[in-house]
Amino acid sequence: MITIDGSFGEGGGQILRTSLALSLITGKPFSIHSIRAGRKKPGLMRQHLTAVNAAVEIGRAAIEGNRIGSQAFTFEPKSIEAGNFHFAIGSAGSCTLVFQTILPALLIADKPSEIILEGGTHNPFAPPFDFLEKAFLSIINRMGPRINAALEKPGFYPAGGGRFRVSINPAGLNRIDLLERGNIINKTARAAVANLPVNIANRELKVIREKLEWDKKRLSAVEVENSQGPGNILTVEIESENVTEVFTGFGEKGVSAEKVANRTVRSVQEYLAVNVPVGRYLADQLLIPLALAGGGKFQTLSPTKHTITNAEIIKKFINVEFAINEHDRNRWEIEIWNG
Ligand code: ATP
Repeated sequence: MITIDGSFGEGGGQILRTSLALSLITGKPFSIHSIRAGRKKPGLMRQHLTAVNAAVEIGRAAIEGNRIGSQAFTFEPKSIEAGNFHFAIGSAGSCTLVFQTILPALLIADKPSEIILEGGTHNPFAPPFDFLEKAFLSIINRMGPRINAALEKPGFYPAGGGRFRVSINPAGLNRIDLLERGNIINKTARAAVANLPVNIANRELKVIREKLEWDKKRLSAVEVENSQGPGNILTVEIESENVTEVFTGFGEKGVSAEKVANRTVRSVQEYLAVNVPVGRYLADQLLIPLALAGGGKFQTLSPTKHTITNAEIIKKFINVEFAINEHDRNRWEIEIWNG
C-alpha cells in the first residue's frame, strides 16, 4: 500500500487527484492522510469527494473515509470499467478537475466512454472549460486518443449549474515534445457576461485592445443566456503552430473589470515575451499524460510549486524521472523519462 502525505509540497487537492488517477491506472492501492492540510478548509470538499467517488465507480474500488471534510482515506481499485457515466458535484465545484481525475484511466481502457459532468465549468483556481478543450485536450488528442468535449451550459462560481459532455475513444499514449511555440496563427479575446451588464465585457476588451494592441476584429463580447447565476470571464486564446494556450480572467465582486483584464494581460504578455509553447497551468497538467506515455519534454515558464509537487506524487506510483531545469533566461525545460 502506497502512503501519501496530503500536506506534502503545495498541500492541495492535486495530490489526491493525481493519486487517484495513477492508482486506477497502475492498480496500486494507496492510503492518504492530511488531505489538503495546506488549505484554509482542509479535507475533502464536494469537488474532491465527487472525484473520489468517480474514481471508485470507474475502478470498482474499495474505499474507506470518503466523506465531506474527511482528511484521510484508503483506496483499492480492482479493474477499470469504461462506459457511460454521469457525475454531478452538487455545488459550483470544478467539473474539469473531476474529469481530469478519471480521464487517464479512461484513455487506456478497453472500450470508449461517454461522460456527463455537472457543477462549475469556469472556476477560478481550476482549468476553465475553454482551456480544457482548446489547450489540454488538443494535446492529448495529438498523443493518440480521440476525445471530444462539448459545453452544454456554463457554470460560474458560486451558483454552478453548468454541464459538459465528453466522449473518449481510448488509445495508447505516444510521447510528445513541445519545445517551440511556432508562429502565432490566431489570437482572440472573448469577454463573457452572464446576468451582468455587458459593459463589464466591453471594459475588459478595451484593456485588451489598448495593452495588447489587438485589432477590434479579434475581440468579442458575449452575453451568455443559459447560465444559472451571474458570471464574467475573459478568455484570451493564442493559437500557435505547435500549441494553443488559453488565459482566463475571472470577474469578482469588488474587483474592477479593468483589474481583471490587466491581470490577464500580464499573463499573456509574459507568455509571449518568454516565447515558450507551454504556460504554467498546462505545464502541471501535462505531467501525468507524459509520464503515462513513458516520456516527453516541453519548454515552459518557471515551474510552480504545484508542478514540482505533482512530479513527486507521480513518482510514487510510476517509475519515471523528471528533470526540471532553467534552459535559458526564464525559459524552463521539463523532461520526463522512464526510470
Ligand atoms: P485545493 O488546493 O483547494 O484543493 P483544488 O483542488 O481546486 O484546490 P489545486 O490543487 O489548486 O486544486 O489544482 C488546481 C489545478 O487547476 C491545477 O492543475 C492548475 O493548473 C489548474 N488551474 C488553475 N487555474 C487555472 C487556469 N486559469 N487555467 C488553467 N488551469 C488552471
